[in-house]
Amino acid sequence: MNPYVKSVIDNAKSKFRNEPEFVQAVEEVLSSVSPLIDKHPEYEKVDLLNRIITPERMISFRVVWMDDAGNYHTNTGYRCQFNGALGPYKGGIRFQPNVYPGVIKFLAFEQCFKNALTGLPIGGGKGGADFNPVGKSDAEIMRFCQSFMTALYKYIGPEVDVPAGDLGVGGREIGYMFGQYRRLKGVWENGVLTGKGLSYGGSLIRPEATGYGAMYYLNEVLKHYGENIKGKTIAVSGYGNVAWGICKKAMHMGAKVVTISGPEGYVYDPEGVSSSEEKVNYLLKMRARGLDRIKDYSDNFGVKFFPNAKPWGEKVDIYMPAATQNEVDLESAKKIVQSGAKYYMEVSNMPTTNEALEYLKQHNIIIGPSKAVNAGGVGVSVMEMSQNSQKLVWTAEEVDTQLQRIMKNIYKTSVETAQEYGLGYDLVAGANLAGFKKIAQAMMEQGVF
Ligand code: GLU
Repeated sequence: MNPYVKSVIDNAKSKFRNEPEFVQAVEEVLSSVSPLIDKHPEYEKVDLLNRIITPERMISFRVVWMDDAGNYHTNTGYRCQFNGALGPYKGGIRFQPNVYPGVIKFLAFEQCFKNALTGLPIGGGKGGADFNPVGKSDAEIMRFCQSFMTALYKYIGPEVDVPAGDLGVGGREIGYMFGQYRRLKGVWENGVLTGKGLSYGGSLIRPEATGYGAMYYLNEVLKHYGENIKGKTIAVSGYGNVAWGICKKAMHMGAKVVTISGPEGYVYDPEGVSSSEEKVNYLLKMRARGLDRIKDYSDNFGVKFFPNAKPWGEKVDIYMPAATQNEVDLESAKKIVQSGAKYYMEVSNMPTTNEALEYLKQHNIIIGPSKAVNAGGVGVSVMEMSQNSQKLVWTAEEVDTQLQRIMKNIYKTSVETAQEYGLGYDLVAGANLAGFKKIAQAMMEQGVF
């Protein structure tokens, strides 16, 4: 490994030891770009690597809200504006009790490279709060979102920073946040948030975009190996908006999603969760209940439920983790290899521990990295921003055509960049190198700060 890269990673490991997810992301990206740093000794002089792993800004704020019984609760909100060299900061907001600066920083860091890889003019950021939306009433969610936006609104804007959804934040939460932003600023700036409802500037296909994009990317990988997606079986984890989009597109493409999972286990549906509109849409119903429970699916459709387990190890052609970070550890990776599956497409952000990733790679599993596979979501977010600024509404076909173009382009750029550095067909390194290259060039051209 390049000595400058190594020293920056070692330093990050000790400096950020209390933020292990962030260290993991830094190590993964920087070790991939080592061959590029070899070719650019000038980067060390301007300390480019330490600058690229240091957020431009990290905002943290208090969020106080009242529950339905009239009691007050205090949470902490964050927005990390990681890198703005390519455009306004862009990335989602996550509401989950495990949110702390290490999670927000890793997500924002990953977002920078993902966004660069889309080829679109956006920087990277991420936000969230350690708030647990599970079991909260609609009124409680609204009060929390309003309080969160009251603290955040002065730091964002259509040309500054454009948040969207992530875990625990969907169309409903974006609506409440947008309403509060409009009320506070007294201006119609709907380009400040993406993932909005269609009635006030949302984009068609945005809810489906991450799942659809992942399937388009998978299709490119299969084509490379001369295989057809039709008839392939897929194990998916998670059951949220992303898993829903995967199932919907799998249905169109003739592939079969046989598992979905929740925090308390997974279900195996031999006919396929993707076998009917009714099943696919049941995912939305479960999500809308706000209980974060997957067993309802097996009760409703009479299929097997595996409590406290993950679907890794099921006999399928393709794995698509789409729940959360580090859901696939070394043990899970071993099961995946044993199952005989050939393809592993990361859909959630950083679903694989670095150890597990290394193991899968050593055992010749074809890996699609999350920052490429799930980039369709943010890609369509940028289309939403374009429609808002042009005061236009695109048709579903127009959005979908662009989404397919973006995903093909991400795949092609990743393949070509890995080849350029003599790494062969390495989609992980290719994605990291391509994203990094773009940001590094823009930073170099904009001077040192
Ligand atoms: N949270 C999503 C992601 O991880 C979407 C971000 C966006 O649309 O800005 O990329």
